[in-house]
Parts: sequence; structure tokens; C-alpha cells
Amino acid sequence: LRGVVALDGPSGTGKSTVSRGLASELGAAYLDTGAMYRAVTLAVLRAGVDPDDAVEVGRVTAGVKLEMGTDPLRPSVRLDGDDVEAEIRGPEVTGAVSAVSAVGAVREQLVEQQRGLIREALAAPGGMVVEGRDIGTVVVPDAALKVFLTASSHARAQRRTAQDTAEGREGDLERTHADVQRRDALDSGREVSPLKQADDAVEVDTTELDVRGVLGRLIELVAE
Ligand code: C5P
Repeated sequence: LRGVVALDGPSGTGKSTVSRGLASELGAAYLDTGAMYRAVTLAVLRAGVDPDDAVEVGRVTAGVKLEMGTDPLRPSVRLDGDDVEAEIRGPEVTGAVSAVSAVGAVREQLVEQQRGLIREALAAPGGMVVEGRDIGTVVVPDAALKVFLTASSHARAQRRTAQDTAEGREGDLERTHADVQRRDALDSGREVSPLKQADDAVEVDTTELDVRGVLGRLIELVAE
């Protein structure tokens, strides 16, 4: 792979699993931008700041140090030196991340860091798979390939629940379905919604596909 594969879409489309799988299959680096929004959200919660207080949120997030590991086999997130990979997947962060990522200053800070990480990765051969909400539209508008993953909200809730259970958290399908719908509404109802399909993105509906099926389709698209 030369350049960037941008993988965007809502949560629960299997985006993280297939992005990591694609990166390791291609020998590419991997960047999970959702993990960056989650990590700064954790910093906001740790600071005792209200996630809806945009001014304070922007002040906290401007002062944090994020270190992202870009190996798809061992993705890692450090917040001010702490390994927070597990903590950022918990319900407190999940409940507050939409509010924090709606703050314009936060988006500016993180998009700039993301572009820096991408530049670094592209200095080495192999390219990079970058997953998020606004990669094809904002972060890397000239990506070599843009994919937009979709799935029914029910399928997405089922995957999230299975993932929670597999990772040792309490899986609750009904609560997760409600959360998926709430976050869809929040993410799409904002004045500046991060989740947008680029005009030149290829849409892949994963409702009826398993991970191998989606990966197979993506590898075909990369080869085209
Ligand atoms: O992908 P993940 O579910 O971990 O993302 C968590 C949250 O981070 C999303 O619900 C969204 O609010 C935010 N996000 C964003 N822009 C991105 C990636 C994630 O606003 N590029």
C-alpha cells in the first residue's frame, strides 16, 4: 500500500477489527482516531471538568500528551505516560465522548496531531490505515482509498455487546442498542457533525458480512 486508506463509519460496523486486520494484512501502519477522542475524554473526566463546558474542555485537552502506537498487532494509547487502552473503552468515557468530540478546539488539536502521525508513518514504506468519522472528509481528503462502512443499528448493537462481553465488561444488548441510537443522533444532529460520507468514498454495508467477508472486500478495493 502507498498512501492512506481512510475507513469511516459509525460505531459497531466492525470498523476497528477490519481496520486492524487490513493494516496487518497489507503490512501498513494503523491509526485509531476514535481512541484519541476517547483518551482526551478520559483526561476531561479525570480533571473533573463538565464534558459540556466547551471552554474548560478545550483547555484540558490542549494540555494533555497523547502517544499513539501505530502497530496494528499492538495498538496502544498513552495519556500523559499512562497506558489507558482498557480504560478508554469503559462506559464513563463512552458516555462522554460525543460531547467532548463536538468541541471545535478539541477537533482542531486532534486533527493536527493525526496529520502529524500520518506524515510520520508515510515517511516509511507500507502506508497507513486510518479509521474514524472524518478521515476521508477532513483529515486526509486526498486518501488513496476511502471506505464508508455501514450496518443496521441492530447489527451494530449486537457487535458492541459481543465485544463488551469478550473484553470482560458486562454486555447488555438493549442498553447498547439504546446507546448506539443515542450516539448516532448526537453525532448526526450536531452543527458540525464529524460523521460524513465523502463523495468519493466506497460504501460497504457490513450488516450481512462477517469480518472475513468485509476484509475480502476491502482487499479487493485496495487492489483495484
Ligand atoms: O470509534 P469510536 O467508537 O471509538 O469513537 C468514539 C467517539 O469518538 C465517536 O462516537 C465520536 O464521537 C468520536 N470520534 C470523532 N471523530 C473521529 C473518531 C471518533 O468525533 N475521527
